[in-house]
Amino acid sequence: MTRRRTNKRIKRNGTSGISTQIELFHFNPPISFEARDGRGRTLKSAEEIAVHNRAAALLRFVVKKHRASRLHYDFRLEWNGVLMSWAVPEGPSCCPSVRCEAIEVADHKIKNIAFEGVFPDGMPGAGPTMPWDLGWWEPLPGYLDVDDCFRNGCLKFTLRGEKLKGNWMLLRRPGSCKGGRRQVWDLVKLPDSFARSMDAPAIVDEQPNSILSGKSLEEVEREGKAGRTGRKRRRSETTLFKMDE
Ligand code: MN
Repeated sequence: MTRRRTNKRIKRNGTSGISTQIELFHFNPPISFEARDGRGRTLKSAEEIAVHNRAAALLRFVVKKHRASRLHYDFRLEWNGVLMSWAVPEGPSCCPSVRCEAIEVADHKIKNIAFEGVFPDGMPGAGPTMPWDLGWWEPLPGYLDVDDCFRNGCLKFTLRGEKLKGNWMLLRRPGSCKGGRRQVWDLVKLPDSFARSMDAPAIVDEQPNSILSGKSLEEVEREGKAGRTGRKRRRSETTLFKMDE
């Protein structure tokens, strides 16, 4: 399977308020938004829809399960050629009444989106990490100016992952910008058919393993350490999310 080089279309200098990605969403929204092209014309044939979808922006997301000094989940959205990142200590919850603290952290490189293995001792984040969920995301109508949404502290979006699906919101906590270097947000499930009640099992407990290898974090850690001292170390990555660069 070959993946398109989506990054090529992204303006990297980011000086103007409107990015190429936003323009793509305005004028060429993915078919999942609505089966219409940018001029409001309804798309009919399967081929027409396929062509349209290939032209539309596909933005990836990943949720990493990572045990550094403590277990947490790294929630990352592809935007403007990087993965914008939040550390979610408790992991995402599919229950709309649960607000999951999400601490804004530094952007990550897209090429590491599917990395599974062990960060060696002595480096920041030392410990095992694995992709707990992978997929695509798109802003909801009304939130297409994603840069503006990040500035304003509220983004609503759809996740199309293996585990996380449906509509979600990132909402910056009031006053979180004051003084602190790290802004604090909440990751919240919006009510829809993918939402769960408080009584339902937490998705992080129900489906704890890597979305790529099916391994638990403990297995990743054990094999990562064994690989380093034994035979030639192998990186567990798949072609599913083989990077663009
Ligand atoms: Mn992390």
